[in-house]
Amino acid sequence: MRIGFIGLGNMGAPMAANLAKAGHEVVGFDTIADAPEGVTRVASGAEAAKGADVVITMLPNGAILRAVAAEVIGQMRPGAVFVDCSTVEVDAAREVAISAEAAGLGWLDAPVSGGIGGAAGGTLTFMVGGGEDAFATVTPLFEIMGQKAVLCGPAGNGQAAKICNNMILGVTMIATCEAFAMADKLGLARQSMFDVVSTSSGYSWTMNAYCPAPGVGPSSPADNDYQPGFAAELMLKDLGLAQAAAEAADADTPMGAAALALYQKFVEDEDGKGRDFSAMLPRFEGRGRNG
Ligand code: NAD
Repeated sequence: MRIGFIGLGNMGAPMAANLAKAGHEVVGFDTIADAPEGVTRVASGAEAAKGADVVITMLPNGAILRAVAAEVIGQMRPGAVFVDCSTVEVDAAREVAISAEAAGLGWLDAPVSGGIGGAAGGTLTFMVGGGEDAFATVTPLFEIMGQKAVLCGPAGNGQAAKICNNMILGVTMIATCEAFAMADKLGLARQSMFDVVSTSSGYSWTMNAYCPAPGVGPSSPADNDYQPGFAAELMLKDLGLAQAAAEAADADTPMGAAALALYQKFVEDEDGKGRDFSAMLPRFEGRGRNG
């Protein structure tokens, strides 16, 4: 296939490189970043989109997605598919989908989980919203860039699945970290707490697979001085998108709102920026009930 890839940052560059390595013709554009090996860099998003069978975007946010979509949709040939892999507002995905479909294009919102390691290793999970035909067309590309792609329903549902998942993740990480810090104060060894909780009803991915306590459980960013991993500011972004969606849909999400407030404080007022989102544990560790 001929693929136009727009947004060659931390995630986009390795994803585009994997498509090129698999034998696809990949033409890329980024306002700043260079193209990775195997990808031909062109001078604009419009040029990357012209003549492509599939255009993939991997951009920082919904405002930029809207701007890029306005530029490229008119350049794409009818029947081509626009796939946005960025994490953006559900509403932005649904609005761009309407424009794409009005221009005779297929549309998929396909945000990912798996981070930079998953992008490099081709092991991402894609959560997909859009039509079945477009999904069938793009599935071979998802199989190169990832290990799993789940069609979750119509346009916007990929983004909905992503923010629901990450709202659970943020809330659960905070709960796991505050419990470890409380265990310290109760004189309960972290290893003992892990041994019990990881095989009891408090278990979770954050405890069992990504344990925030250094030296406990499988290797995780906690064992590497909380270098990300998944940075706290990216969790903050996703929790913000979750609350925006909750407000728009009139969903009652008190735990999601509390997690957003805490990560906001951590990133903006404390030392959380640039640290893994599991660095909530040393944050709690140094505090008492009154801060
Ligand atoms: P990034 O900032 O490294 O990459 C974004 C790229 O888009 C940059 O290189 C930037 O120059 C480029 N860009 C900005 N405006 C552009 C435009 N108008 N035209 C072309 N290129 C433009 O970000 P990233 O870490 O690669 O993340 C990309 C998306 O993936 C985000 O929406 C993020 O939330 C999501 N995501 C990231 C991770 C992660 O671990 N990094 C994990 C899951 C999802």
